[in-house]
Amino acid sequence: MSLEEYREKRDFRRTEEPAGKPVEEGEPFFVIQEHDASNRHFDFRLEVDGVLKSWAVPKGPSTDPSEQRLAIPTEDHPVEYADFEGVIPEGEYGAGPVLVWDRGPYRNIREDDDGELVPLTKQVEDGHITVRLQGEKLRGGYALIRTDFRGEGNWILVKMDDDEADARRNPVSTEPESILSGRTLDEVAAEGRDGESDRDGSGETS
Ligand code: MN
Repeated sequence: MSLEEYREKRDFRRTEEPAGKPVEEGEPFFVIQEHDASNRHFDFRLEVDGVLKSWAVPKGPSTDPSEQRLAIPTEDHPVEYADFEGVIPEGEYGAGPVLVWDRGPYRNIREDDDGELVPLTKQVEDGHITVRLQGEKLRGGYALIRTDFRGEGNWILVKMDDDEADARRNPVSTEPESILSGRTLDEVAAEGRDGESDRDGSGETS
């Protein structure tokens, strides 16, 4: 909690100062990256057992509990991927711009019949994940539920009906900027086309 005061004083959509690591040691985190590959989508990732469990959400997450969003499982990503913002080059897998749309710690809130928390690994296996997010844009309970609705083992992502639910918000369209750099996806893409991959601000490109 040591950076709480620092963060409260700054709007990281406006300033280029770093927000700092979003989580305390040992606390799992989530990240959502907006990604314009062959289709624009949001990659929803949860840190579980040292990797990022990942789903591609074509429409992005909603804050409205009545909205079920298709979430297509994708391969586990390394934890370090949560810092990645930039342009995946032409010809590479997932070519296109990526930005860090939201990030923060999450809490496991799914209990079994005895009131014990169900380990996240088991929740993933069960196809029923319930977590409370503490992001800059998304907060409160979210459920990821596997459904064979289309016979493809796809999942849905849905906001739980709690005090953070808000059917009037639509952060996917009203808050498009990166929480790291304040850039939009088009700005990330344009800088990539200019041959700049200077996302750390060092003045050097590689
Ligand atoms: Mn992606």
